[in-house]
Amino acid sequence: MKVTEHLTRAAGKTLFSFEVLPPRKGETIDNLLRNIEPLLEFKPPFIDVTYHREEYVFRHRPGGLLDKKTVRKRPGTVGICAAIKNRFNVDTVPHLICGGFSKEETENALIDLNFLGIDNVLALRGDPIKTEPHFLPHPEGHAYADGLIAQIQALNEGRYHDHDQDHQPDGTEAWAADFCIGTAGYPEKHFEAPNPGSDLKYLKQKVERGADYIVTQMFFDNEEFFKFEQRCRAAGITVPIIPGLKPLTALKQLTALPRTFYLNLPESLAEAVAQCPDNEAVRQVGIEWCLAQSRELMAHGVPCLHYYSMGKAESIRRVARELF
Ligand code: FAD
Repeated sequence: MKVTEHLTRAAGKTLFSFEVLPPRKGETIDNLLRNIEPLLEFKPPFIDVTYHREEYVFRHRPGGLLDKKTVRKRPGTVGICAAIKNRFNVDTVPHLICGGFSKEETENALIDLNFLGIDNVLALRGDPIKTEPHFLPHPEGHAYADGLIAQIQALNEGRYHDHDQDHQPDGTEAWAADFCIGTAGYPEKHFEAPNPGSDLKYLKQKVERGADYIVTQMFFDNEEFFKFEQRCRAAGITVPIIPGLKPLTALKQLTALPRTFYLNLPESLAEAVAQCPDNEAVRQVGIEWCLAQSRELMAHGVPCLHYYSMGKAESIRRVARELF
């Protein structure tokens, strides 16, 4: 079932969802499934699975030469979505990115998803890989998420990227997809956007091109979300906006999260974490902060709370136990 259908059915009740990462290459799926199980009691209507593109690594060869190899450290997004859906009977939302994909490959991935009974996708541009100075699109792919969204929406209307495929050999119309399309929003602005107004303009463009709902980047100050939501509504964006949250779990996140996700940690949270003697104490602070954020967002009437697990489910379980 589509994410938007779940939100409509909930009729004003806040839903619980979360995001998982595929295991690293060489690991089995068992650990991931074991991490999901304790969260099922909170009845997530959907679970997101992130997509991790290839990276270039350089391997030394005898004689001092270097070999450039392409490596995907976390493959398997589509397979994991199908496995979770089969095992737990929960809808899954694979993340689909522009980076590394031609339009033809995107189309084929969407067809695979349909054959697997998956009818949701979160359409993203993806970040530059480490060896790129900035995001470089595939020569036959999309430079921004709005192009990817437009392609998915076109397939929803039975239009293929190569229009020769719009009809079957016997002249009948080709199969049209029916994907529910999610897109990313940034309460504290995407790091490349010159200003919040520009970021909002492109977010609106993504919605106009077919996005059915927005999931936000994580934030730790609800005021940022409330202001973002207000700006979206004032700009005429009417689709559901799902806030993304993460309980802090380690001292190193004090610097790693702002560096990786370009977000602010409020002073009182940063100070409380900095005073923690160990990561167990940080986890407790993280849970209490996330719980307070969640309660306020629920009271505000958000349709769903979406938690970034980043491989660590226990803190989310402790937050959810108080709320759902
Ligand atoms: P876009 O919407 O394309 O925006 C990128 C930048 O370009 C923004 O600054 C925007 O303002 C600007 N822009 C947008 N459209 C245009 C246009 N037409 N012309 C000019 N400028 C434009 N990354 C992964 O690799 N895998 C994942 O699984 C993943 N999951 C994520 C889940 C969520 C909820 C979020 C918030 C992010 C996720 N990311 C993931 C990270 C995401 O890929 C990066 O933040 C990326 O840098 C931007 O992706 P986007 O889809 O927001 O890009």
